[in-house]
Amino acid sequence: MPAGMHAQGIRAPRIQGGNTMIDVTRPELDDAITRAWQASPEGSAAAVYTPDIERVLQGLRANRFEAHYCADAAEARAYLNGKIDGKKVGIGDSETLRKLELHEALASHNQVHNVQRSPINKGTSFFEYAKGTLLTDVFLCSVNALTEDGILVNMDGTGNRVAAALFGHEKVYYVAGVNKICPDLDHAIWRLRNIAAPRNCLRKHKATPCAKRGDRCYNCASPERICNGLLIEFKKMSNMDMEVVLVGESLGL
Ligand code: SF4
Repeated sequence: MPAGMHAQGIRAPRIQGGNTMIDVTRPELDDAITRAWQASPEGSAAAVYTPDIERVLQGLRANRFEAHYCADAAEARAYLNGKIDGKKVGIGDSETLRKLELHEALASHNQVHNVQRSPINKGTSFFEYAKGTLLTDVFLCSVNALTEDGILVNMDGTGNRVAAALFGHEKVYYVAGVNKICPDLDHAIWRLRNIAAPRNCLRKHKATPCAKRGDRCYNCASPERICNGLLIEFKKMSNMDMEVVLVGESLGL
């Protein structure tokens, strides 16, 4: 069977990433790393995979992102709290940023607009509230996965998070735990479809097949599907500063 052709004869979409062609459906990827991710509640493959942090930082810088390493969440919180002052700040939905308690740190000396605290029960629609993060001075979110050669990968259901990350700010910060690092783009896409998305669906009580056990992707057609748009940032976007803060512990999904 030709590469990219599935059993039903449907050609899977393929993307050129670095030197590899990737299949964005990739249900069959099965190796020690993917099995370790599935076995770990934090989605960490630390038992079988030790990413080369220096290579990741060099890869990010080669792709024109600023890159900074912090040993743990407390150091990352202090670092970001020191860098962001007197700004209008947007925060996207992120378990990583929640763990950092960044909202609490920044809100005392910045104007923070956080979609995680959207007042949807107070008459403001999520749509209207999330639009408020699109043109802040600074925007923060995490990534679903990043590769050792410095490519960032995010999947979004509504699009507000990836839209805000792409344009319109003085600076965007991506904060990521080492559990998000993947050896290549194939693993990154497999991770976001089979680890990050199902576990986020489980957390948010979505009406999707993956939310029952949070175990894997079923490539669903549910109206509540969160895998609607895939953003791969091969390089930093033009005309905007972007920094990746890599944290030396497991954070987020
Ligand atoms: S929401 Fe649908 S497409 Fe996304 S991981 Fe779950 S089953 Fe797969």
